[in-house]
Amino acid sequence: MCRSCATTTAPAETPVDAKSPAHGLSRRGLLAGLGLGALAVNLSLSTGASTAEAAEAAEAVEAAATAAAKNGAWANPALGRFPAGGHYGAPRGGASHAGQDISNSTGTAVHAAAAGTVVRRSWGGGLPGRTGNALVIAHGGNQYTYYGHLSAYRVALNARVTAGQRIADMGATGNVTGPHLHFETHSGSLGTTVNPVRFLAARGVDLAGGWSRIDPGASGATVVVIQHLMTRRGHALVADGRYGSVSVAAVKRFQSSKGLVADGQVGPATWPALVYTLRQGAGGDHVRALQTALNKRGARLAVDGAFGSVTTTAVRAYQSANRLVADGEAGPVTWRALTG
Ligand SMILES: [Zn+2]
Repeated sequence: MCRSCATTTAPAETPVDAKSPAHGLSRRGLLAGLGLGALAVNLSLSTGASTAEAAEAAEAVEAAATAAAKNGAWANPALGRFPAGGHYGAPRGGASHAGQDISNSTGTAVHAAAAGTVVRRSWGGGLPGRTGNALVIAHGGNQYTYYGHLSAYRVALNARVTAGQRIADMGATGNVTGPHLHFETHSGSLGTTVNPVRFLAARGVDLAGGWSRIDPGASGATVVVIQHLMTRRGHALVADGRYGSVSVAAVKRFQSSKGLVADGQVGPATWPALVYTLRQGAGGDHVRALQTALNKRGARLAVDGAFGSVTTTAVRAYQSANRLVADGEAGPVTWRALTG
């Protein structure tokens, strides 16, 4: 984990154990996760002030919570584990740890958490307190992500990147105890950090690994994956990447048929029922789904639905770069990583 990578300002919440259930979040914690730390302060101030002010503040919170949707725009930046003491807000010599550490071996793939532009590619990203090779990506809407202690860069400064694209390799550059990714989320301005675990959870991503959550209204490559898998499951859908009413109704029927809650969210309960274990020789829409998911991670395959040697090589390369068992077979663990 990091020995430093701290901000002098205390985080807007008390750090909690990563295993704490999401429903146990305090409102303040939730707000911080949504990048609304300042709003939380306003809310506390308005306690005891006029009811109109409080109602106005509550409405603003509601609107911002809606904006942080599980809409398929975000992706897990790296697979690994959370080292003890590597959480957001952990003490660092009188200051507080500015991100979440994700441990894995040097060379593990690091992916862009969302589409954007590389605005920093330098030691510590030019931010105070940080060390090691770092990238900063601007995502628009005053949201930024920071990737620290990299062993190699795979994108240029000012490059445009897509969600899930490989941008770097994990490493141990700078003031660290071992190889890991130091990952930060900034909301409001570059330098205003928020808890990355909560920030990504609000956007349907389980940082470091876990099935994604895709809600009605989502769009993008992961929705195309869902549509191809649904077609293979006997609910034919147009693979247009838009999770609209027709696709949502089909997923709800699929969920009902599997005895799942028919809420239309493709998450940890639905994904395992939807994916297929695939190996070389397979053919069809489930293979199109796999090829689409691999392309989101940079494979550049023709989405032809034929699992031949080229697809096998792509699966194995992805598995190897992400420290999974590199057997060239797409089972649930590989699917979870690819769509996370
Ligand atoms: Zn760190």
